[in-house]
Amino acid sequence: MTAAPGATAPVRLVLATHNAHKVRELREILVPALPGLDAASIVGAGDVGATEPVEDGLTFAENALIKARAIAAFTGLPTVADDSGLAVDVLGGAPGIFSARWSGRHGDDAANLELLLAQLADIAPEHRTARFMCAAALVTPDGREEVRTGALDGVLATEPRGAHGFGYDPVLVPLGETRTCAELTPAEKNAISHRGKAFRALAPLVVHALGG
Ligand code: IMP
Repeated sequence: MTAAPGATAPVRLVLATHNAHKVRELREILVPALPGLDAASIVGAGDVGATEPVEDGLTFAENALIKARAIAAFTGLPTVADDSGLAVDVLGGAPGIFSARWSGRHGDDAANLELLLAQLADIAPEHRTARFMCAAALVTPDGREEVRTGALDGVLATEPRGAHGFGYDPVLVPLGETRTCAELTPAEKNAISHRGKAFRALAPLVVHALGG
């Protein structure tokens, strides 16, 4: 087995993402859920030199599986991936799988958020319901595939608030909260998030795949 750069622990699980924020968030969710696995043995796709596959699926689950399959084939290691996004009711579920490139520029969080707020400018609070959605996939080198999903329901604020998180976090206020996701601490967000729910549901299957 290979070791992560600068780490001594052998790599046992690969996270199929090049997004450093997601690697950190997924480690924080998975390490407590995976007995005996330390953070250094979980690495991102960039750490193992893998390139990003084309995400041409039509659902979160399809895209998560595309990413996990590609990295599992490249590394020969169990791989987990997520695909996630924001579904806004008044927009018929958009941006959905287009969340990361809603403004036309992939990964431009500020532009994506600005466009969404402009589109919803005249929409009253009671119609600003939305949810973060996540599909978490596990693919093992012997071809086993599993997907679990999670959602975080909320209402969209009219202006961004908060400095934590990424993407649309500054505008989604979870149901029962007054703060946006970007005003929650990372631990508070992980406890209720779409990604937390999906990966905690997937964790027992990851333990099994790692021989636990
Ligand atoms: P992915 O990396 O292809 O899964 O794209 C996810 C996109 O959905 C991100 O770029 C964000 O715009 C949005 N998104 C997904 N999860 C979150 C979250 O937890 N907070 C804020 N935005 C999110």
